[in-house]
Amino acid sequence: MAKYELPKLHYSYNALEPNIDAQTMEIHYTKHHGTYVTNLNKAIEGTNLEKLSLEETLRSVSQYPVAVRNNGGGHYNHSLFWEVMNPKEKGNPPGSFSDALNNTFGSLDDLIKKFSEAAMGRFGSGWAWLVLDNNGKLSIGSTPNQDNPLMDVSEFKGTPLLGLDVWEHAYYLKYQNRRAEYVANFWNVVNWNEVAKRYANARK
Ligand code: MN
Repeated sequence: MAKYELPKLHYSYNALEPNIDAQTMEIHYTKHHGTYVTNLNKAIEGTNLEKLSLEETLRSVSQYPVAVRNNGGGHYNHSLFWEVMNPKEKGNPPGSFSDALNNTFGSLDDLIKKFSEAAMGRFGSGWAWLVLDNNGKLSIGSTPNQDNPLMDVSEFKGTPLLGLDVWEHAYYLKYQNRRAEYVANFWNVVNWNEVAKRYANARK
């Protein structure tokens, strides 16, 4: 039996409209993410990686074939991406997480500005991130391709709390080349309760 599976999506393909369109969601989830899962399973079949968690695998990813880096990152990143969006969770970061954001960035608007700059500044394909870094501080950055801040090969490191996919496949059908519009509309669907939960877990 395959180790990794496409995780359940907790909302319908059209639930994030008009910010993210149903056709993009369906293709992105079933085809793009689905292919990362299939190819990750192929890459680890019959190896010791069948015994490691995905997080453990990514933390030592420099030791494995590049297919593990690309598809393991793809699986981790998209699994997080679907969870940190939710059409029913409009609102602001809750309680002590909000205080931490304000202490680090000044305000939620300042966080959004800095994160959006990271998303726009990532040339080509990649991801923008809010992480709890290895010194216990909130930090914003980006990674190329399907890399992420857990990976030992990543220059930008930490525990991912919020991630935004800036590959063209994430927005091209609706926004074409207008990445800035896609990034601006992302904030309408961020599930801050989920991000706050990840923050609390990362601090344990
Ligand atoms: Mn993607």
